[in-house]
Amino acid sequence: MREPLIYDRHIGDQKPETLFHKNACPFCNYHDTENIIKTKSDMIWTRNKYPTLLDSGQTVLIETADHEANMSNYPPEKQVEVFQFAWECWQEMKNSGKYRSVLVYKNQGPLSGGSIEHAHLQLVGLTKRDGYEYWTPETLQGMSVLEKGKLAVNLSKYPNVGLMEFNVLGADQTAETIREVALMTQNVIKYLMSQHHMYSYNLFFFDREDGLQVHIVPRFIVSPYLVGYDLAQLFTEDVLEEYRTAFLAYLKHPTPIDPEKKDGWF
Ligand SMILES: [Zn+2]
Repeated sequence: MREPLIYDRHIGDQKPETLFHKNACPFCNYHDTENIIKTKSDMIWTRNKYPTLLDSGQTVLIETADHEANMSNYPPEKQVEVFQFAWECWQEMKNSGKYRSVLVYKNQGPLSGGSIEHAHLQLVGLTKRDGYEYWTPETLQGMSVLEKGKLAVNLSKYPNVGLMEFNVLGADQTAETIREVALMTQNVIKYLMSQHHMYSYNLFFFDREDGLQVHIVPRFIVSPYLVGYDLAQLFTEDVLEEYRTAFLAYLKHPTPIDPEKKDGWF
């Protein structure tokens, strides 16, 4: 039996939302200085003002002061800076001894489950729960796309939601490997946007076996197979191979993202 996380509606009702209504962005000119844990350049790691989960310490890493910037358009050095700061904050939370487990993930885009448009990461400590209890490490396994030194990329054979989920796997946690993981994650995001018009995605971060792994999940309207039966869907082998080839071609000759295209279907 899968125990749900408990959501506090009284707090949820106060939460701002900027994705669907043009409310003022709480992350532009961030004012809640009493909640700030740490800053680095224009990044702010802060306690979530609206902790909707019971028995948790919810924090947010605001990646940039620029409302329009995100992982699809950061200069490479900015992408690396965000990953390295996130890793640092994550380890700090884990080492604090306050949490049984710490989850690190990202929502970006209208179908991602997030409520704030401004680029940010979520670092959530659960005081009583093992947040990885139902997570299956097999989601990180898949059809190999490339291997280069300490870095590997694959297309998941056991996706969480379905169809085309990428994994970017770092073999260790050195600054150099985190840098490679950051840059390759950015390549995957740009590929999904420019070639498949997927503008909504989640990133899930793992630090298994002392390495950093990122599971990239494009988001679209979820199928009833998943909702009703917990059945994800996957492309056939030949289609996965086609996308592997297309991604490798994209790495050699990146194509720009068309800002006019909205969240699409495959
Ligand atoms: Zn903003």
